[in-house]
Amino acid sequence: MRLDFSDERVLAVVAHPDDADYLCAGTLARAKADGAEIGICVLCQGDRGQPAVPIENLADVRRGEMAAAAELLQAALLRGQFSDGCLVDDPEARKTLVELYRRFRPTLVLAHWPGDYHSDHRAASALAEAASWYCTSTGHESRAAVMRDQPALWWMDTINMTGFEPGFYVDVTQYVDLKRRMLACHKSQLERGEDGDFSPLEQQMVRQCDARGAQATVAAAEAFRAHLVWKRIRAW
Ligand SMILES: [Zn+2]
Repeated sequence: MRLDFSDERVLAVVAHPDDADYLCAGTLARAKADGAEIGICVLCQGDRGQPAVPIENLADVRRGEMAAAAELLQAALLRGQFSDGCLVDDPEARKTLVELYRRFRPTLVLAHWPGDYHSDHRAASALAEAASWYCTSTGHESRAAVMRDQPALWWMDTINMTGFEPGFYVDVTQYVDLKRRMLACHKSQLERGEDGDFSPLEQQMVRQCDARGAQATVAAAEAFRAHLVWKRIRAW
């Protein structure tokens, strides 16, 4: 069976500027190669992920870093502009994400697993799920036109695979180098390791792709679960 993303519009909804690079950029790259439209929606600014030597205008710096990473992937970049640590599933955030969905019009959303390690990830997960329903509801007003169909929704693996039982795997062997180069764009975050030349995040990402690959008997993979609720299910 070959997974085919052609004709899809795939949107990753993540909390922080580097999350998509780590968790699903290989799958987005595969979708792009198949002819899909791809996008990354980053809900938080990354304004509190300070390295050892604090950066005054960190939100601006991280905006540039995520733009560079999205450029490597040739993905559209959508931003929610919430402050780090302040993301919650509330009416204001839902309205923001419904607007962004209606602008990009995804047929498939990749979202954080509801039990991932960071409170912003858990809030982003709840928001991505809620908006996947409300984007088609005419009672929820927005500037962009209401969507006709709900997107399918796949939960992404967790950071470091903790507490996540994969439902299926996407072979990303060809795209691990791209994922490394994307993560390398986030210089402010790589400097958070004790040694400036050492990048634990990149090593962790490669180790995770290797481990998920080993489970699926390929060199490197990203793991997902389908969100099996009404209107977010697809028949393949
Ligand atoms: Zn994150």
